Amino acid sequence: MNKYLKMILLMFGVYSFLLSSNSLAQLEYLLSIKKIDVHTHISSDAPYLRQIMDDLNMKCCTICTGGLNKETMDFQINSANEFCKEYPRYYAWITTFDLTQRNDPDWVENVKKQLRRDFENGAVGVKIWKEIGMEIKNADGEYIQADDPMFDPIFEFIAQEGKTLIAHLGEPIQAWMPSHLPVEGIPGTYWAKHPEYSFWDKPDKPSYSDIMAARDHVLAKHPNLKFVGAHLGSLEFDVDEVIKRLDRYPNFAVGIGGRTRYLMWQARGKVREFFIKYQDRIMYGTDRSGGFYKGLGQKEKMTENDIQDSRKSILDRHELFFRYYATDDDIPWGNYVIGGKPLPEPTYTVKGLALPKEVLDKVFYENAVEWFPGVNKDF
Ligand SMILES: [Zn+2]
Repeated sequence: MNKYLKMILLMFGVYSFLLSSNSLAQLEYLLSIKKIDVHTHISSDAPYLRQIMDDLNMKCCTICTGGLNKETMDFQINSANEFCKEYPRYYAWITTFDLTQRNDPDWVENVKKQLRRDFENGAVGVKIWKEIGMEIKNADGEYIQADDPMFDPIFEFIAQEGKTLIAHLGEPIQAWMPSHLPVEGIPGTYWAKHPEYSFWDKPDKPSYSDIMAARDHVLAKHPNLKFVGAHLGSLEFDVDEVIKRLDRYPNFAVGIGGRTRYLMWQARGKVREFFIKYQDRIMYGTDRSGGFYKGLGQKEKMTENDIQDSRKSILDRHELFFRYYATDDDIPWGNYVIGGKPLPEPTYTVKGLALPKEVLDKVFYENAVEWFPGVNKDF
């Protein structure tokens, strides 16, 4: 085993004698190739992030969000623009646009102006978030969906510029179920902490299928727009649902964006087949955050302990995911509470997918380059 692999395995806390020779060879291969994490939220450059990316032979793409908070949005855009210019080997970025001025007659022109500037500054795509569909309303008090004509000139502009739209629309389907309810009084899920995005028992809110249908309508209306569905297109609970859209819309691809655990909960053979058949249209992404500051748009700097925690959280995910995608190991895994943390003691094992090398090449690198041209600049 090479020294580099040994170092990485030790860093991950994986003891090589526990792995079969085939698993080791597959992991060694995945570690050796260039990889891009297309879905991260990096608040600023930090030396520990660059170290991780050197160790893993990786570059990450940071995604700006927050069209309803201009201050946070501008902070992210300015920061991403700066650190991506300073360290293009390590970081690429995706911009977003303001929604607060959407009733201003100059809104579309102003958004285009901002996007043009961001593309000139190297942004490789544009993100829209679940606030479209779940939060903003029109003058009649109706929720505005992504297929609202107000967005058409913006989406057309993005397509004309040869850029890509990445969309996190809706939520995992569990947001419409009572699964967010605290267990023994402890908020166990994201929605327990963010009840504004839990639509269970709120009949005035759009349904899950309304939001998915609006997204599908955008795909149909803009066949020339490269469209990446973040979080497996919010269809993470069933690869068959993803497949339906991939078959119907050639302009559609999906990013995993931190939803690997949902794949682990589905039939392994089916998930493996999905990766093999749609190997050109699935991209690796962890949805990890990191940087110098405590959070996106925050001014408070991380302490040494925060940095250690962030480093561990990023490496733990990559370890788990590399083993899941590359090997057929039985990986000890926790009883994962949705949006929460795995229990400290693993409660079951998940068998890795052992994807062929050419599929790993595509999912971990080539598809990002294909769907977000320029993302691999200087890497
Ligand atoms: Zn994200």
